[in-house]
Amino acid sequence: MSALSNRINNLSESATIKMAKMGRELAAKGVDVISLSFGEPDFHTPEHIKEAAKQAMDQNYTYYTPVSGYPDLRKAVAGKLKIENGLDYDFSQIVVSTGAKQAIANAVLCLVNPGEEVIIPTPYWVSYSEVVKLAEGISIFIEAPVEQDFKITPEQLEAAITPKTKLFMFSSPCNPTGSVYSKNELEGLAKVFEKHPNIYILSDEIYEHINFVDKHESIAQFETIKDRVIIINGFSKAFAMTGWRIGYTASNKEIANACDKMQGQITSGTCSITQKAGVAALEGGLESVLKMREEFKKRRDIVYNLLKDIEGVKVNLPEGAFYFFPDVTSFFGKSYNGNTIKDADELSIYLLEEAHVATVGGDSFGDKKSIRISYAAAEDKLIEAVRRIKEALGKLN
Ligand code: PMP
Ligand code: GLU
Repeated sequence: MSALSNRINNLSESATIKMAKMGRELAAKGVDVISLSFGEPDFHTPEHIKEAAKQAMDQNYTYYTPVSGYPDLRKAVAGKLKIENGLDYDFSQIVVSTGAKQAIANAVLCLVNPGEEVIIPTPYWVSYSEVVKLAEGISIFIEAPVEQDFKITPEQLEAAITPKTKLFMFSSPCNPTGSVYSKNELEGLAKVFEKHPNIYILSDEIYEHINFVDKHESIAQFETIKDRVIIINGFSKAFAMTGWRIGYTASNKEIANACDKMQGQITSGTCSITQKAGVAALEGGLESVLKMREEFKKRRDIVYNLLKDIEGVKVNLPEGAFYFFPDVTSFFGKSYNGNTIKDADELSIYLLEEAHVATVGGDSFGDKKSIRISYAAAEDKLIEAVRRIKEALGKLN
């Protein structure tokens, strides 16, 4: 019998991390693996941000910080929300955490009681349902298929709400689909929430700057529900700072205080040096962000044109983030060398073994029909990866 708690035994390993690990292991054996599994910008952190971190060390910002973050950082976040998003938050409503991942965990653990329901549109980011499990909540999934551009309608939302609903969780731009909700679409959802004053809305906006259609729209702009919205954001994607571990929530004061109390017992907040780098990131302007966005858009177009020419791969044109989530059902039941592909996860493993391209199967995103392909990689790598994928898929019959 396992010594471990049911809590950890019931938790699934993060599929994105698992596939990245498998890719790295294969590469360590000398195999030329192209990794399109991890959602990680392949750019370096901009120089002015790194400089600020070096200075922070030299100035001895090496002690415990306030649990919710240094006031100058929280003020810079509140300033960003005002200037870029037109949203009013006092700095006391901002809690800085060890990545957006911890910000999400804080919010869910602070809000959800055992048995309460959390509505999550599928496909969703892998950690959402798992953190709901940790809180002993119940995930209620709403299907948003590719035909709906992976977005839910207000009618679907209304139908999923019960007296037990506590929270709604989504990302826009979306990981894994790249779909972006328009202002109108968000307003439609906000109108439903207006009728249900006990439901909170976790709005994961970490891909805010990787949006190819328009300016970013936050569901927190609707004043009637703003007090119940918890904005999640971070620095990993916009500023290529995945390893620095910094993200934040913007919420009402009650939730902010609860998140402070939660992480006061778990991490004591994020790294002091990282926080000073975070201030420089927010104060340094968006030049590097916009350059990255242009590069991502170029890659998106290249990969889209290549993918849509592969017979059997159904793909839409994502409007943001840096992922494709093509439907690959037409390959299910096909075989190669005696191996029959049953589902998207097996196809993803097949692609790793046969094409040496790491992707992620859709199951842990709540969609068994698709695989996720990250295009946060150099152009030549992407072109070669899709060539290999096409060749490997062509061998299946
Ligand atoms: N939300 C989404 C949708 C993500 O894709 C990620 C992965 N980076 C996170 C949150 C967590 O980001 P981090 O912890 O690196 O800030
Ligand atoms: N969020 C990224 C992804 O979806 C990084 C991995 C993770 O944080 O789980 O791949």
